Amino acid sequence: MADTPDATAAQGGPAGEAPLRGRIAKILNTSAVDGPGNRAVIFLQGCSFDCAYCHNPETRPAITAKPGLRPDGKEAWPRWMTSGQVLSSVGRYRAFLRGITVTGGECGEQPEFLQELLRDARAAGLPGLVDTNGSLDYEAWPGIVAAAEGFMLDLKAWDTDEHRALTGAGNASVLKNLDFLAASGALYELRTVIAPGLFDAEATVRNASEALARAGSKARYKLIRFRPQGVRAAWRSLPPPDDALMERLSALAADSGAAEVVVV
Ligand code: SF4
Repeated sequence: MADTPDATAAQGGPAGEAPLRGRIAKILNTSAVDGPGNRAVIFLQGCSFDCAYCHNPETRPAITAKPGLRPDGKEAWPRWMTSGQVLSSVGRYRAFLRGITVTGGECGEQPEFLQELLRDARAAGLPGLVDTNGSLDYEAWPGIVAAAEGFMLDLKAWDTDEHRALTGAGNASVLKNLDFLAASGALYELRTVIAPGLFDAEATVRNASEALARAGSKARYKLIRFRPQGVRAAWRSLPPPDDALMERLSALAADSGAAEVVVV
């Protein structure tokens, strides 16, 4: 996570010295679509995946010497903030919030800060959901799991080669997290973006649903239509899936053991 000498300094030294700071891409004070109820959404900067259909490419670089460019052409600067600064920033909306959702980029790229933010938010009465691509091994971070209200896990593709072609990274940790979080009851939601032609959606949905059933998980499985709006120019001509495909995949997920399936 420390990419440059400056980055190391900004995150703080050994415990007890400078306060821990996270790289924050942006904060949304209220959202009704990032978990149950109204939530503040904290976008952490940096992601080790490079998904073809990424809608937030400006949040991918861990450190930006110059502003990142959003797909709409606007500049985006990450900020260094302590968890206290993040929570006081959303504090004025406290009365309207059920909790926070920590996302990215990929929030698991800054595990110490994620853990501290979740603990502080819980202490402030704002339970935190973790929205993650699953690249961090959460079994190795019991403090994060204990502090989190739950996890929303992305599964881009079941097959490792397809996953690598789609994201530039393997999926061993994603599949491990699926089993671990589902079995421990910490998985709130599993999500797959359905982008025709980029991976075998049937195999992914079937295998993922069977994994949820094997673990006895009641987590809902959200199937998300690929939407070309907001993605990088090279991918804007990719067609979104039609209704028939989404209905077929939804039925397949239910038949394969997913307790609840949602199509958006
Ligand atoms: S995991 Fe999310 S933020 Fe990272 S590249 Fe993929 S879509 Fe973008």
